[in-house]
Amino acid sequence: MNKDRVKDLALLPAHRLHELIVSGETTSLEITESVLANIERRDPVIKAYLTVLRDSALRAADRVDRKVKAGERINPLSGIPLALKDNMCMIGTETTCSSRILKGFVSPYDAAVVERLLAVDSVIVGKTNLDEFAMGSSTENSAFGPTRNPWDPERAPGGSSGGSAAAVTAGEAILALGSDTGGSIRQPAAFCGIVGLKPTYGRVSRYGLVAFASSLDQIGPLTRDVTDCALLMNVIGGHDSRDSTSAEIECPNFTKSLTTDIRGLKMGVPREYFQEGLDPEVERSIKGAIKLLEEFGAESVEISLPHYGYALAVYYIVAPAEASSNLARYDGVKYGYRHPERENLLDMYCKTKSEGFGPEVKRRIMLGTFALSSGYYDAYYLKAQKVRTLIKNDFDQAFKKCDIVMIPTTPTPAFLIGEKVDDPLQMYLSDVFTLSVNLTGLPGMVIPCGFSSGRLPIGLQMIGRAFDEKTLFRAAYTFEQNTDHHKQTPDFSKIER
Ligand code: GLN
Repeated sequence: MNKDRVKDLALLPAHRLHELIVSGETTSLEITESVLANIERRDPVIKAYLTVLRDSALRAADRVDRKVKAGERINPLSGIPLALKDNMCMIGTETTCSSRILKGFVSPYDAAVVERLLAVDSVIVGKTNLDEFAMGSSTENSAFGPTRNPWDPERAPGGSSGGSAAAVTAGEAILALGSDTGGSIRQPAAFCGIVGLKPTYGRVSRYGLVAFASSLDQIGPLTRDVTDCALLMNVIGGHDSRDSTSAEIECPNFTKSLTTDIRGLKMGVPREYFQEGLDPEVERSIKGAIKLLEEFGAESVEISLPHYGYALAVYYIVAPAEASSNLARYDGVKYGYRHPERENLLDMYCKTKSEGFGPEVKRRIMLGTFALSSGYYDAYYLKAQKVRTLIKNDFDQAFKKCDIVMIPTTPTPAFLIGEKVDDPLQMYLSDVFTLSVNLTGLPGMVIPCGFSSGRLPIGLQMIGRAFDEKTLFRAAYTFEQNTDHHKQTPDFSKIER
């Protein structure tokens, strides 16, 4: 087979590949092979994957090709290679959460999203690297080493879904799933120049997603363009009785929202988000994107989100508090790793946790346990929950004046590996624009909107009303149809072996 053709195939979006499969111009096997070939030549540098499911992927691809040959109708995602963040369960695969404490833990069941993907014959290529238990913003907190950004391997791909974002960017998957507790889909999407959506809390089932902070966690797509994002949402969205927080609200067909009619759409631009600390190139790109949408009929209105400055403090109490409770179950008895030497039960717990958890996870468990402890609960956790309501109220007020809120995703483009990892506060500050979306449960979408002078991608973040992802899709699609940022690819010669 022609090598260039193989390479090109793995860089196309899923909806184009679907057309090629259906018309017989290519096969799922050919696409899967080209993705696997990219993994082979790029992943030694990028390190997006923890597990590659080569054999089962090829078998799944072959199954789809046989269905197509037999004239069966297939879903747009049938036969399309997809990467799964390694905090989602898939039967027979290790689910490590990039932690030593889960080393050797094999998923006994499929996550709801995996079930749904397998039901449409999606080809799951492998499980991707993340910050340990999704705690981090750079994928450096992985027990298995960092993932690198395909645009510049010296830089972080973002986190915690850095492996998933890097895989899509490098043509090592066509699309991917990530999870977002405080920005973990949107920030890597921005750093890697792809599309990322944190759906409304309750839109996608969390059944089979390893819990980090249960009132904030949500699964969502990382894709090459907005159409692919809609296709993936169509498969994974909708009610699931096994997740008690799953919303009993019908999931629309998101592809119907892919129109370019945004006349009269009101874009809220919060004055608080465009202040000191924001990189001038990022600011220019975001403002340019807003201007472009104005040219197509949207209107901007100035809004205020006065409590935005508290989101960081609130998040870093609520998330560690919930994490300290969720992570108590990793005690060496039920899952994965158990320290081989122990004098008694307590000693076994201590040794297992000391060796099994990395430094950031330990920091969060300690912060969270402290915030929840008697005597401090009112001062920290309860207070944080009250301020969380104030942040939510700000958005309720804003959505009386606008349909969608437009803000940056990150203060700067991708930072260097090693730049912030030893300074937790600096790392936490890089989440300043993404946290309020999780605290409020609202949907947030990131799309590529420009490049820095150093050719690093910049992402525009759009926030919608609860369960109104449709408006995000409409605005995003309009922007994408009139720009070509999403068609840019990194210089792969720098990352190939
Ligand atoms: N960066 C944030 C944190 O470290 C968010 C992580 C996430 O969304 N999973 O907690």
